[in-house]
Amino acid sequence: MSIKVAVIGSGPSGFYTVDALRKGEKDVQVDIIDRLPTPFGLIRGGVAPDHQTTKKVARVYEKSALADGVAYYGNVEVGRDVSIEELKDMYDAIVLAVGAPRDRKLGIPGEDKTGVFGSADFVGWYNGHPDFTNLSPDLDTSTVVVIGNGNVAVDAARVLVKTDEEMTETDLADHASDAIQASPITDVYMVGRRGPIEAKFTNVELREMGKLDNCVPVIDASQLPDTVEGEWSDRDLRLKERNLATMKEFPDVDPAGKDKRVHFSFYSKPVEILGGDKVEGIRMENTKVENGRSVGTGEFFDIECGLVIPAIGYLSDPFPGVPFDADNGIVVHDEGRVGDNIYAVGWIKRGPTGVIGSNKPDGDIAATQIFEDVSEGSKPGRDALDALLRERNVRVVTYQDWQTIDAAEVSGAKPGAPRRKFVTIDAMVAALD
Ligand code: NAP
Repeated sequence: MSIKVAVIGSGPSGFYTVDALRKGEKDVQVDIIDRLPTPFGLIRGGVAPDHQTTKKVARVYEKSALADGVAYYGNVEVGRDVSIEELKDMYDAIVLAVGAPRDRKLGIPGEDKTGVFGSADFVGWYNGHPDFTNLSPDLDTSTVVVIGNGNVAVDAARVLVKTDEEMTETDLADHASDAIQASPITDVYMVGRRGPIEAKFTNVELREMGKLDNCVPVIDASQLPDTVEGEWSDRDLRLKERNLATMKEFPDVDPAGKDKRVHFSFYSKPVEILGGDKVEGIRMENTKVENGRSVGTGEFFDIECGLVIPAIGYLSDPFPGVPFDADNGIVVHDEGRVGDNIYAVGWIKRGPTGVIGSNKPDGDIAATQIFEDVSEGSKPGRDALDALLRERNVRVVTYQDWQTIDAAEVSGAKPGAPRRKFVTIDAMVAALD
C-alpha cells in the first residue's frame, strides 16, 4: 500500500518535499495542507511584489501539485479544522513545512508603540497576505527607519520609495499601493548594527538601490573600507567584494530630479523608540565591530521618524502537539526527525536563513528519512481526511479551486500587472462561487 504523507505548509520547503517524495523509490500519496486558500507560502506572501521573476518558481511547484498521487487541501488549518493527533492516525508520515511567520523582537523600550511594524507583518501587508490586510500602517510621515541589513530590509525600503510606474508590473496589493503613493515619505534610513562588510543583503538586491527612478542611495563613504578584510569563505568574500564595489558607486548616483533617499546607516543600533503612544523617533547608539560583534560606543543620536520597521529576522510559532525550542524559534528535532513519524523542513527546522533553493536539500532529506522509517503504508490517508473535513463542513480549497482563484486574480489585473490579489480569505472563497 502507498505511503500516506501529509505535508503541512505549501511554501518552498513543502513543495521541495513533495517533489522529493514523488521522485523517490516508493509509492506515495501526498496531501499538502495549508491554512490559506492560496498555495506557495513566501513565494506569494514574502517575495517582493516587484521580484516577479523569483515568483515564477511556483510554476515548478504547480507540476508537483497536479501530479498523480498529490492533492492540495487549502483553507484547512491544523489545530482548528483537524488536529495533529488526528493526522497522526491518518498518515504514515507528517512533514512540518510551516515556516517562520513571526517577527523577532528588538527587545528595546517603545517597541509596542503605534507605528512600529515588524517586517513579517509589513511585508505581509504590502503583499496582500490576508492576516495583514487590516494592518493599516500610517504612512503620513516623511521619514521611515528600517532596522536591519538583510534582504528583507532592502525589500521593504525599496517598495516604499519606488514610483507608481516602477510598480506597474507588480502584484503589490491595492491597499499598499494607494497608501504608498499617497504618502509624503522622502527619507528611508536602513540602519545596520554592524558595518557594510557584515551586511547580509545580496548584491542584486543592493544594486537595485542605485537604479531607482525617484530615489538615490546615500552612504557615508568614510564608513566604506578600501578592501574586504577578515576571514570569509571564497563565496562570501566574492559577495562582500561585490557589495563593497556597489556601495562605492553609490556616492556617484546623480540625485538631480530625485525626491527620495535611502540612507545606508551602518554601525548604529536601536536602543529606544521615542514618542507618546505613536512613534516620533528612534534613539540609536553608535557601534563598532569587535570580533564580529556589534558593541555600543556610548554615543547616541536620534532620528525623527513616524514609522519603524524592524527587519531583523523571523521566528516560527510553536506547533500544537510538537516539542518547540523557544530560544531558537524552531521545533525540537534530530536532523529533521521530530519523532512520531513527524519531520521538519525549511525555516521551522533551520531557522529563517537562506534563499528559496536552500529548502531543496531539506525536502530531499525528509523524503529519504520517510522512506527509511516507513517500509510500507498502513494508514488511510486522504480518504480519512476527506471524511473528517466533510463531517466538519470545512470549505476545502483544492488545487483546481486555486486555479480558479488564480485565473480571477489574473483577469482582474491592471494593465501590465501580473494579477490583482484577493486580500481576504472571504474574497478568495467568494471567487469560487
Ligand atoms: P537576515 O538576512 O538574517 O538579516 C537580518 C538583519 O537584522 C541583519 O542585518 C542583522 O544584523 C539584523 N539584526 C538582527 N537582530 C538585530 C537587532 N536586535 N538589532 C539590530 N539589527 C538586528 O534576515 P532577513 O533579511 O529577514 O532575511 C531572511 C532570509 O530570507 C535571508 O536568508 C535572506 O537572504 C532571505 N531573503 C532573500 C531575498 C532575496 O533573495 N531577494 C529576499 C528576502 C529575504 P547582524 O548581521 O548583526 O545579526
